Amino acid sequence: MRSKIIAGNWKMHGSKDSVTALLSNIKSNFAASSPQLIVFPPYVYLEQVQQTLKDTKIQWGAQNLSANEPGAYTGEVAAQMLLDFGCKYSLVGHSERRSFYHEDNILVAMKFAQAQRHHLIPILCVGETLQQREQGLTEEVIREQLQAVLLLQAGVQGFRQAVIAYEPVWAIGTGLTATPEQAQEVHQFIRRELAKQDEVIAAQVSIIYGGSVKAVNAKSLFAMPDIDGGLVGGASLDAHEFVEIAKCIN
Ligand code: PEP
Repeated sequence: MRSKIIAGNWKMHGSKDSVTALLSNIKSNFAASSPQLIVFPPYVYLEQVQQTLKDTKIQWGAQNLSANEPGAYTGEVAAQMLLDFGCKYSLVGHSERRSFYHEDNILVAMKFAQAQRHHLIPILCVGETLQQREQGLTEEVIREQLQAVLLLQAGVQGFRQAVIAYEPVWAIGTGLTATPEQAQEVHQFIRRELAKQDEVIAAQVSIIYGGSVKAVNAKSLFAMPDIDGGLVGGASLDAHEFVEIAKCIN
């Protein structure tokens, strides 16, 4: 049975007060153990999140991590530091990291490996731009994004303890959502790619969808056989909406 996951990527939003309010609303409105809720606050709120969520079933993680061991890397945050604040997960390769901070497939694969080296579960974000989709390159782009991780990890074993998020770049923060069928097609493709190396791992890895997920479209997306939940950006800043999205998963 694959884990069902609803993850909230807060991006660069929040304040001490808004974090307290958001988490207390989520806590009082969602107590079920499935789906697994995970929040990804900005680094500076991790301690507050840890304190607030320590006796709950909700998990938390980082939006990014350094590919390096602790050292002279100004502005970076090491995996060990994330563990210090109780993180269990880290996003790697979010499209905003890839586009604004020029993270390429190799760096993303290094971050994936670094997370696992320190027993953090990476959530690997993959997805195509609108131009790539229109040129018929979706599968090729995603294959390359997966291949980088597969090569650096010496195969598919790295996906035993990992999550994949399919996030079409054209759907992130735009209000455009992939149709359930479009998303299912890519999720199935990702599973098939992994199955070429290991059918069991491919069947077990959770693949979540991200890109303008809202309560109004979540149910039909999550009804698809290869969609195991959602990575939610904007809507995760609204406790009611986030919880309603979580309730859309069976
Ligand atoms: C995201 O940031 O990963 C995301 C999917 O954002 P949004 O839900 O706002 O499109």
